[in-house]
Amino acid sequence: MTQVSDADFAAFAKQAADLIGSQHVLSGADMAPFEIDFWKQYSGKAALVVKPATTAEVANLVSLAARFGIAIVPQGGNTGLVNGGIPDGSGQEVVLSLQRLNRIRAIDEAGDYITVEAGVILADVQKAAEEMDRLFPLVLGAEGSCRIGGNIATNAGGVNVLRYGMTRDLVLGLEVVLPDGQMLDLLKPLRKDNTGYDLKQLFIGSEGTLGIVTAATLRLVAPARERVTLWLAVDRTEDAVSLFRHLRGVFGDLISSFELVSSYGVEAACNHLPGVRRPVDKPYPWHVLIEIAWTFTEGLRERAEAAIATLFEEGRVLDGTIAENETQRQMMWRIREGQSEATSKIGYVVRSDVTVAIADIPALVARCEAWTPDYGADVALLPFGHIGDGNLHMNFVVPREKAKELSPLLFERLFAEVDALNGSISAEHGVGRAKRDAILSRKPETAMMIMRRLKAMMDPKATMNPGVVVASEPQAPPIIP
Ligand SMILES: Cc1cc2nc3c(=O)[nH]c(=O)nc-3n(C[C@H](O)[C@H](O)[C@H](O)COP(=O)(O)OP(=O)(O)OC[C@H]3O[C@@H](n4cnc5c(N)ncnc54)[C@H](O)[C@@H]3O)c2cc1C
Repeated sequence: MTQVSDADFAAFAKQAADLIGSQHVLSGADMAPFEIDFWKQYSGKAALVVKPATTAEVANLVSLAARFGIAIVPQGGNTGLVNGGIPDGSGQEVVLSLQRLNRIRAIDEAGDYITVEAGVILADVQKAAEEMDRLFPLVLGAEGSCRIGGNIATNAGGVNVLRYGMTRDLVLGLEVVLPDGQMLDLLKPLRKDNTGYDLKQLFIGSEGTLGIVTAATLRLVAPARERVTLWLAVDRTEDAVSLFRHLRGVFGDLISSFELVSSYGVEAACNHLPGVRRPVDKPYPWHVLIEIAWTFTEGLRERAEAAIATLFEEGRVLDGTIAENETQRQMMWRIREGQSEATSKIGYVVRSDVTVAIADIPALVARCEAWTPDYGADVALLPFGHIGDGNLHMNFVVPREKAKELSPLLFERLFAEVDALNGSISAEHGVGRAKRDAILSRKPETAMMIMRRLKAMMDPKATMNPGVVVASEPQAPPIIP
């Protein structure tokens, strides 16, 4: 990127203020919250922060930035975990926050869809769906802060992927502002539209590198009128995987979540999160949190009880319980969702997000357990996550003073295990800048070439979130070298 002069930034700031109002163009200390991520793992330095309130304002700002050759970093709720939504350290990038683009545009009861702007908080989309007796099934720990544009840009996963798929599976239509400021209207709420390339898919999961999502039409589903939440204890990860296979045979797609938590993680939650208690009497090596739901109002609990009785009879579980009420259910989920928060009271949490075939989960955990002590007796492995999707957060809790030295070593070793099992080093968090270089040797060279070429074609001046996902190159490399 060529340096933008102070004079050009000043001219941009003035014209941006004319477009959206000076109170929505931030500088100096006002930019601080936009320059650091949720877990305070990554920080950068912005030239300015702009906060448009309409798609037209986004388009005008983007085309203004393009004229000056100024790089834009789209930002939603700033809960992303891979250093993709905050500016780099150059002080040359403008953060475009979608916070004010937060209207619900339309709700269609007959078609079961909702059209929302990119800055609507995920929990508010869920609430709007609930008010029309429907469910928006994207559910994740950051739902009170993350925004739907960010969810789409990262193709977020969460705890219901097993049944409803990733964000990609919930998007019917999209409105996007392209890197030159043109608006692309793909907002049709159609389930079927085979008229050539499905361009909206290109932007889903592109982490703001190909354009800015300004609105989306989202698919809603029938609500869960009866829900059963189970907490089961097992001896080995192999037992958790075999339990998953068994219960899928019994309940099929009614299982929406199937989550694994380690003994270390459960005890950390009980010791460090106020009011949290273990759902079963004593510590067990592994715990599984399962949610089963259907649209009828009764009958599921009895079926779940019968299934659990069989599990006990067959010796498939060591202990277990069913949530009797919403408070108990919330407690179970607090343990699962609070894994990073609880263990961050013990040490620095090296966070990861990897995926392997479900059958390979025990091997992944066992291999990592075997070498974790090599890094010190005070380093703990903390695996937890969506085993029903093959997606584990293989985190490590390390002494704070060793975090800088150990983080790259632990990642290298973990990623080597994931490679050996033919998995992926990013399951649901994306690439950002954090994993940009790590994917280079892992994706086929032809795939990387197509990604670079797409980026160069869509964003020839490399001003849209440069340096994220793929290194920006102003020239399109030839597809056949
Ligand atoms: C406590 C916690 C729990 C989490 N749990 C999960 C989980 O279970 N599953 C999961 O998948 N993730 C999870 N995450 C990660 C994070 O919440 C998701 O990645 C989320 O989708 C990010 O949304 P956001 O609005 O915060 O995006 P941001 O962090 O603001 O941005 C993320 C990326 O998207 C781009 N972007 C943002 N908005 C737009 C837009 N409108 N148009 C184009 N690009 C845009 C940014 O440039 C950046 O590259 C969790 C995070 C936290 C802190």
